[in-house]
Amino acid sequence: MRSMILMLGLLLPSASWAVEPNRTNTAAPARWPFETQVGTFHVHSDYDTSSRRKLLNQLADLKPQLQEQLQIRIHDEPVHLILFAQHHNYRDYLRLYFPNIPDRQALFVKRRGPGMVFAYENRNMEVDLRHETTHALLNASLPYVPLWLDEGLAEYFEAPPAQRATGSPHHRTVGLRALVGRVPDLERLENLDGVSEMHAAQYRDAWAWVHFLLHESDQSRRVLTGFLQDLQAHSPPGSLSRRLAAEMPDYRDRFLRHFR
Ligand SMILES: [Zn+2]
Repeated sequence: MRSMILMLGLLLPSASWAVEPNRTNTAAPARWPFETQVGTFHVHSDYDTSSRRKLLNQLADLKPQLQEQLQIRIHDEPVHLILFAQHHNYRDYLRLYFPNIPDRQALFVKRRGPGMVFAYENRNMEVDLRHETTHALLNASLPYVPLWLDEGLAEYFEAPPAQRATGSPHHRTVGLRALVGRVPDLERLENLDGVSEMHAAQYRDAWAWVHFLLHESDQSRRVLTGFLQDLQAHSPPGSLSRRLAAEMPDYRDRFLRHFR
C-alpha cells in the first residue's frame, strides 16, 4: 500500500503526549518517547523498540539490496518510521492526522519532504515494514514509480532475502495459473488509475511480473533495470510492456515457462 498525500508540517506525537506540560513551551519538533536511527531510517515510537533491533537492521540492509538488484542509486534521504505498540493508538493517530486514508495495517506516506512509514506491533509487522520501506526508498530515489511496479517491487522485497526468489506466498498461485496458461495482463496493470484499483489479484500479478523480470534471465533483468535507470535519469521510459515486447517478443511464453 502506498499513499501520496500532502504532509501537514511536523511529525507529531499522538495527542496524549502533545499536551504534556514540558512539551507545550517549545518550538522544537515534537519528540516521541523513544527515538533511534538505523541507516537512513529515523525511528519514532511510543514503545521501546530495542527488541526489534534485528528487524531495523534488516530494513537498513534493503538499500544495498535494492541497489544491487535494481541497478539504481538509492538516495540517502531520511525516512521516518513511526511505530506504535498498540493498534488502537496507531489507528487513532492516523485518523487524527490523515483522516482520508483507508485503514491499513501499515502505510507509506509521501508528498514533499521525507517519506513516512507507519506501522504497529503485530505478527505481520516485519513483512509490512519491508514492504512499506521499499516504497519509501524507491520513491526517495526516483522521480516517480509506476503504481503497478511500485507495488510489485514492494511485494517482492517484503519477503526475507532468502525467500525472495522461491519463498513468496504468491509463487504457488502464479505457478498454478501458469499451468493452465494464464499470463497476467501487464498492459492492464500499467493502465490502473490508482491504489483503489489495486486488489489482491493486482498485487499478485505485479509481483509475478517483477519476479519474472528479475529471475527469468539476464535479458529480462536488463529490461527492468534499463527501465528504472531511465526513470532515474529523468528520461521518459515509455511503458515496460512495450519494451518487453520489443526486446523479448515471446515474453508471454517465457513467462509461462518461468513459472511452470
Ligand atoms: Zn504497497
